[in-house]
Amino acid sequence: MEYYRPTSVEDAVQILGRSPGAACMAGGTDLVVAMRSHKRGPHAIVDLSGLGLDTWIFDDASNRPAKVKTQGTKKAGNDEQRLGPGWRIGATVTMAVLKTLEDEDNLGVGLLADAASQVGATQIQNRATAGGNLCNGSPAADAVCAMVALDALIEIAGPTGAETMPIGKFLLGPGRVNLEPGQFLTGIFVPAHDMKKSSVALQEYRKVGSRTSLVIAVAGLAARTVLDKGKVVESRLALSSVAPTCIRATEAEAYLTGGPLSPDRIREASHLAREEARPITDLRATDQYRKEMVSALVTDHLTRAAALAQ
Ligand SMILES: Cc1cc2nc3c(=O)[nH]c(=O)nc-3n(C[C@H](O)[C@H](O)[C@H](O)COP(=O)(O)OP(=O)(O)OC[C@H]3O[C@@H](n4cnc5c(N)ncnc54)[C@H](O)[C@@H]3O)c2cc1C
Repeated sequence: MEYYRPTSVEDAVQILGRSPGAACMAGGTDLVVAMRSHKRGPHAIVDLSGLGLDTWIFDDASNRPAKVKTQGTKKAGNDEQRLGPGWRIGATVTMAVLKTLEDEDNLGVGLLADAASQVGATQIQNRATAGGNLCNGSPAADAVCAMVALDALIEIAGPTGAETMPIGKFLLGPGRVNLEPGQFLTGIFVPAHDMKKSSVALQEYRKVGSRTSLVIAVAGLAARTVLDKGKVVESRLALSSVAPTCIRATEAEAYLTGGPLSPDRIREASHLAREEARPITDLRATDQYRKEMVSALVTDHLTRAAALAQ
């Protein structure tokens, strides 16, 4: 097997271009496990650890053009998207680093930090990267669920240049992501979400599994609920492990937005989220159990958000 450790994004693109079928390796916590169990056998490994993609910054948007070209899909053409302030996170930033990101003003990244803190245990968090969690394409990926809730943008490098795409377009299905041959993920942009001084927010990641730690989610919820003067002004409910990719419970979000968090409305929103889940039965849980867990997770989150607002 060939092994490459490029030291620039351009070199990595060149190597991937001339080695079709080569596998990118970041922390190796998914890839090496798959190779050891003979589920994958790439002829070449491109180690991404020398690219300097292991840093993050808060970008206040003042020093960059207001518009960034965003490709929805390779076939659908380009739309222009206005990016505000947010966090630029390199693809090889580890969970150990992500979980330390502070968000005193509840602008969003705290939700990602909470999810990262629940990936595996310390040893895994020291290796596992944000990009690896995304590119592995698992619907149970904890950090990915938080990125879906926060409308993260995915930054990609490849033979035709750099591009940015919404996370919903990047995740295609179990084990499948929207990368063409020769492309790889260079970073993630997590937008800073609005918070008025008078608002209160609860943002958190919760997962249900067969143990309390070191567990793959049977169902997970990345949620951000912002209330102002007793009414929901922002509702984000992303679900993991209950559909082919992490998904948003958009009907429940739309129902909640603009109203108070009364017990009746919490019940109805939990029911809507439960109906939006499309789980399968596998060796870890039945589809019905997963649906019940979605309802329980949403009820629990909204009940605590309501208490916070009082
Ligand atoms: C014991 C154990 C416990 C775990 N627990 C959890 C858990 O609780 N929650 C959870 O979400 N995950 C868990 N995982 C899975 C894994 O740790 C995560 O998915 C992790 O984020 C993968 O990151 P990595 O850097 O190790 O990826 P790698 O293993 O290096 O790569 C994963 C895949 O993505 C590709 N890839 C990686 N980076 C890029 C890139 N920048 N561009 C293009 N392709 C890329 C690789 O080719 C490979 O296909 C666990 C794994 C183990 C072994």
